[in-house]
Amino acid sequence: MNSSPEFEILKKHLKEKKLRYTREREKILKSIIQMKGHFDAEELYFNIKKQYKNVVLATVYNTLDLLTACGILNRYRFGTDHYRYEKILNKPNHYHLICLNCGKITEFTSNDIAQIEVKISRSRNFLIKNSSLQIFGICNECQKGVVK
Ligand SMILES: [Zn+2]
Ligand SMILES: [Zn+2]
Repeated sequence: MNSSPEFEILKKHLKEKKLRYTREREKILKSIIQMKGHFDAEELYFNIKKQYKNVVLATVYNTLDLLTACGILNRYRFGTDHYRYEKILNKPNHYHLICLNCGKITEFTSNDIAQIEVKISRSRNFLIKNSSLQIFGICNECQKGVVK
């Protein structure tokens, strides 16, 4: 099942960069399409290994970079020292709330923020391709257990 638009986007990107569309890269992308939410390279690697034993971690990192460059993935730091990725194709622009206590990531959309972006884009004559907002704090669940 290679019908997802991601495969064509990756092929086109690799061609432009004069890189080869390898079976390994195809396998990695297949696994990414199965991933949900925000994942890191290690989690992805762990999943790939279940199906494809021969994939190398360096290729996973390399492919994650390629997929970020061609707009299939977004990557975030979420306050830690390593990246987390998520698929952004056909997904509305959204923002993140990150709990400093349990690490839970909650997504939200906001017309207000979207409108501010339009205003900034116009007033600065800046064509916005992508944006990210990360708000750090204590989630609802943790507030019940944490005395401030
Ligand atoms: Zn929490
Ligand atoms: Zn997200």
